[in-house]
Amino acid sequence: MLILVINCGSSSVKYNLIDTSEEKNLCRGLVERIGAVTSIVKHEPEGGRHTKNTRTIANHSEALQEIMNYLLDTENKIISSPSDIEAVGHRVVHGGEMFKDSVLIDEDVLAAIEQAFDLAPLHNPPNLRGIQAAKKNLPDIPHVAVFDTAFHHSLPNKAFLYGIPNRLYRRYKIRKYGFHGTSHYFVSRQYYKKTGKKAGNTKLITCHLGNGASITAIDGGKSIDTSMGFTPLSGLVMGTRSGDLDPSILFYLIEKEELSLANVHALLNRHSGLLGLSGYASDMRDLIEEASNGDRRCQQAIDVFCYKIKQYIGSYIASMNGCDAIIFTAGIGENSPLIRKRSLEEMSYLGIEVDDTKNDSPDRGAIQKISTDNSKTEVYVIPTNEELVIAIDTAKIAQASDQSPWV
Ligand code: AMP
Repeated sequence: MLILVINCGSSSVKYNLIDTSEEKNLCRGLVERIGAVTSIVKHEPEGGRHTKNTRTIANHSEALQEIMNYLLDTENKIISSPSDIEAVGHRVVHGGEMFKDSVLIDEDVLAAIEQAFDLAPLHNPPNLRGIQAAKKNLPDIPHVAVFDTAFHHSLPNKAFLYGIPNRLYRRYKIRKYGFHGTSHYFVSRQYYKKTGKKAGNTKLITCHLGNGASITAIDGGKSIDTSMGFTPLSGLVMGTRSGDLDPSILFYLIEKEELSLANVHALLNRHSGLLGLSGYASDMRDLIEEASNGDRRCQQAIDVFCYKIKQYIGSYIASMNGCDAIIFTAGIGENSPLIRKRSLEEMSYLGIEVDDTKNDSPDRGAIQKISTDNSKTEVYVIPTNEELVIAIDTAKIAQASDQSPWV
């Protein structure tokens, strides 16, 4: 099936056109700076000419029109009619407690995504705008929502409850939800496929290290704990997000610096993490380069980043009473031998040994084992492909909705 996968941010629309029968990406692209004076539009057809232009795109609906115009342009030869696209898959960040799986979008689902606005004020509103814009442009085909939180629905109560009065969970659903679910799911399935091991008796730790970063413990194929929490702010140190901290710091800061709630929100989400620690950059490539030139604060930022990863890995080995394999994925996890090595340093007590030669030169884009043959725990680099998971789920649900009047 030909599936259009849409991922909307507050001022961006990312898209992939995927043929699920061959698991092949036909075209990807991005419309950025929506609503600004000049928006940036990129299209990257597979095997074709990549383009980057600027123009004015006022809203998400215009962005979707721009994408459809490009895909339909006879010169680009990607599709010949809108009806070539059989369904649209939407990445939705927060599904709350309601969505344990991907769903066909109807009025009730739209209302439920809106209800979760409070839980993900940065993500769910643009996700919903994206769905509305895509439905306007492609009204006659199924639209499916795939949630970042869904894979973590298997977390047991002891992992998802916080140590606060239980009525706050009951009344406001304050609990750990976890994110990057499609990525953790995808790389774990790639591991089972590659090694032939059964999900049922395998313990994995998957490290999604990108601009946003999270670690998940997967036992028996199910997520049993994960580092992000009520929102994607907690857990590891990230590009601009703080990750875990003592909540008392907030009271202290609000008093000392007379910060408003909006200021605190911006401080922790946009000015912290690697950017805040280094005072230089949120991008790991820049930090590695400056650290190698002797910048002490960039080095410290890398140290804190890797130390946090190591701590989470250790704690998830304890949670699962063992670990068969650790998997690195996403921008940093797939591309940085240095970060992989530093995160697993001095863990020989746990039987983790990285093979430096394999770690330093994995084939880009390939699944690769980077642990030594003696390592008790395997270590793998596995490229993620969240869009493919969304496309496959969407195809499955769209086909079922076609066949059954009850889905
Ligand atoms: P993502 O959010 O998955 O796109 O990942 C973005 C992050 O990956 C940024 O911090 C990039 O600096 C980082 N990244 C990409 N390539 C490399 C590389 N070769 N070495 C280190 N970090 C990288």
